[in-house]
Amino acid sequence: MSEQHRHLLKTRLKDVLRTTSAHLSGLKDLGVVTVEDLFHYFPRAYRDHTDTCTISELRTDQVNVVRGTLSGMFSRRTKTGKIMTVATLNDPTGKVEVMWFNQPHIQRLFRNGDEVLLTGKIKFSRAKISMMSPQYEVVRKKQLHTARLVPVYHERDKINSKWIREKIHPLLKGAQLLKDYMPGTIIEEQGLMSYGEAVRMVHDPKSEEDLMKARQRLAFDELFLLQFQALRRRYRLRKEAEDQGRAIEVDEEASKRFYGGLGFELTEAQTRVVDEIMGDLISPYPMMRLLQGDVGAGKTVVAAFALLQIMKSGSQAALMAPTEILARQHHNSVSKLLHDFGFNIQFLSGSLTGKQKEDMHRQIATGTVDLVIGTHAIIQEGVQFKNLGLAVIDEQHRFGVRQRERLAEQGSPHVLSLSATPIPRTLAMVLYGDQDVSVLDELPPGRQEIITRVVPEKKRREAELWTVDQIKKGRQVFVICPLIDESDILGVKAVTTEFERLKKEVFSGFEIGLLHGKLKADEKEKIMQKFSRGEVDLLVSTSVVEVGIDVPNATIMLIEGSERFGLSQLHQFRGRVGRGEHQSYCFLFTDSHGEESKQRLGSLVKYSCGFKLAEIDLAMRGPGEVYGVKQSGIPDLKMASLGDADLIAAVRHAVADLIVKDPDLEFHEPLKRKLEAMQEISEKSA
Ligand code: ADP
Ligand code: MG
Repeated sequence: MSEQHRHLLKTRLKDVLRTTSAHLSGLKDLGVVTVEDLFHYFPRAYRDHTDTCTISELRTDQVNVVRGTLSGMFSRRTKTGKIMTVATLNDPTGKVEVMWFNQPHIQRLFRNGDEVLLTGKIKFSRAKISMMSPQYEVVRKKQLHTARLVPVYHERDKINSKWIREKIHPLLKGAQLLKDYMPGTIIEEQGLMSYGEAVRMVHDPKSEEDLMKARQRLAFDELFLLQFQALRRRYRLRKEAEDQGRAIEVDEEASKRFYGGLGFELTEAQTRVVDEIMGDLISPYPMMRLLQGDVGAGKTVVAAFALLQIMKSGSQAALMAPTEILARQHHNSVSKLLHDFGFNIQFLSGSLTGKQKEDMHRQIATGTVDLVIGTHAIIQEGVQFKNLGLAVIDEQHRFGVRQRERLAEQGSPHVLSLSATPIPRTLAMVLYGDQDVSVLDELPPGRQEIITRVVPEKKRREAELWTVDQIKKGRQVFVICPLIDESDILGVKAVTTEFERLKKEVFSGFEIGLLHGKLKADEKEKIMQKFSRGEVDLLVSTSVVEVGIDVPNATIMLIEGSERFGLSQLHQFRGRVGRGEHQSYCFLFTDSHGEESKQRLGSLVKYSCGFKLAEIDLAMRGPGEVYGVKQSGIPDLKMASLGDADLIAAVRHAVADLIVKDPDLEFHEPLKRKLEAMQEISEKSA
C-alpha cells in the first residue's frame, strides 16, 4: 500500500464529490470530512427490500416495492397550490396510479416508458388504488436504493440516506485500503473478515449473511479496542503494585466473632461475594473490585468484613461516600458492626473545623486511626496515610479520575467500590473492564415488598388523600418531579410548581421541603438532614435524591411524570422507601397513554429486582438512553450490542491473551498506532 493509496483515504470529500457546499458543511457537522470519515459513517439500520412484488400483489398494509414502466405522466397544480405529478405504473399484471406532491423534478427525471422501481404505500379510495409519493429509482444494472438490503443512515438536514448511498457507492472500492490493525492470529482464530472488506460490506451488503459477518467484525473491533484499554490499565496498575506486599492472612478468629455478632446469617450471595473479596485480599495484587447490589442487599455488611480483615492485618482502611449525610450513615452502621473489635474509627468530612481536620490528618499520618469514614475529604491534598490497606468507595460512578489517582498515591491499596445501580453483567464487563465485578443478586430474607402502583390522572386525588392520611399517622413522603423549572414545554411538572401546588392544595399544614440540583451542596444536606430527623413531612425533589439516603420513617414515594424516567432510575427512587418496619408504597403518576411507557411502568409493578429491571430497561431503550452516554462513560457503540454476551466474552479472552503476550504492543505496531489515535481523539474531546 503506497503513499498514493493512503492519500485516497485522506482525500477531502470536497475534492471527490460533486455536491453543494451545503451538503459538505452538513457532512462536516457530522464529523465527516475525508473519504475515510465517510467510510466510517456506518449505517444505523437496514431496510430489507429484497422482495419486490407485482402490481397485482400490492397491499395497503405495508410498504411495497414494485417494478414497472411509467406512462401518462403529467403535472398540474392542485386547488391548494401544490404541484401534483401523476403517472401510471404498468407491469404484466396490471396498472396503478402513482402520485407525487411538490416534487416537480420528477417530471424532468423520468420519461414515459422508463423502467422504474418504486417503494411506497398504497392508498385505496373510491375504488381506485394509488401509490403515494413513493421513493423512486430508474432501473439500472444495479439498484442502489431499493430491491435489496438498503442501508439507512442517521440523517441530518440535507444529508439523507439516499444521498449518502449515492455518494459513497463509487468510492467504496477504496475501502480495501483501510489498514487492518488487528493481529493476524486473532483474525484467524476468530474467523474474522478483513477490516476493509467489512467496512465495504456494511455500506453495500450483498446478502444477510455478508452483512452479519461484516457487522460481527466491526463489533468485535469496537469491543476489542475498548476492553484492551481497560485491561491494559488494570495490567499496568497491578504490575506497579506487585511488590507492595498487599497480601494479608485471614484472621479466622475475628471472622467468627464478626459473624457471631451479626444476629443473622449471611445470604448465599453475601457468602459468595465475601469469598471473592477474600480471594483478592490474600493475593499479592491490590483488589480492584466492584460490588453491585440493590439497595438493602447487604453490601455494607460485606464491606465491613473486608475492613475488619484489613485492620486485623495491621493496615489502615478508609470508607468514602459522595455526601456528608451518606458518610455519616456509614459511620453509624459500620461503627456498630465493628464495635467489639476496639479499633479507632473516625469521621472526616469538609464540615469539620480546621483544627479538627488537622488533628485527623495527623492521626492518619501517624497511623493512630485505624478506619476513617467520610467524604472524599479523606483523600484530599495534604492527607497521607501511614499505611492504607483498603479503600471502600460507595457509589463509585461519582468517583472521579483525580480521586482515583490520589488513591493510587497512597501506595496502591486494595479498592472495593460499591454500587447500588445494578447493571447487566455484560455491560459491567465492558464499562468496568478494569475491575472484577461481584454481584449481590439476592435480598436478605423477610424484606417487605414495596407496593407499587401506576396511578392514572383520574385516580390522583384518591392517592393524594390517602397519602395525607399516612402523614397524619406519622409517616414521611418523597415526591419526585422530572425537571427543575418552568421552561418545560413538554408539560412535565416542574418541581417548584409542584411544590407550590402541594403546599397550597394538597398538603397544606404540613412541613414541606424542596430539593433540587441548583441548590448548593450544603443547602441540600441541610434539607436532607431535616427530613431524616423527621422535621419535614414531605420532601419534594428532582432526581438529586437518588443516592442512598436512609430514612426508615419515609414510607411513600410519589413519582410525577414517571414515564419520563428510566426503569433503573425509578427503581432507585423506590429504594428510598421500605427501609423501616412500616409497609411502604411507590405510586407512579403518569398521564402518558403510550404503549411503551405502559409496559415499562408495568414491569416496575411486576419486578422488584434491580438487575431484572436494568435488563428490561437496556433492551427497551439502549444503553445511551439508560445510563447517559457521556456522564456514565458508556461507550457509544455503533456495531456491538451490549447484550451479546458471547461476543463480549470472546473479545475478553482475545484481549487478555494478547496483553499477557505483548502488553506494550511492541510486536503489534498497527494496533498500537490505532489505540494511540483513539486516545488522541478522546483527549481532544474531553
Ligand atoms: P446495602 O448497603 O446493600 O444497601 P446494608 O448492608 O446496609 O445494605 O443492609 C441493609 C440492612 O439489611 C441492614 O440493616 C443490615 O443489617 C441488614 N442485613 C444485611 N445482610 C443481612 C442478612 N444476611 N440477613 C438479614 N439482614 C441483613
Ligand atoms: Mg448501603
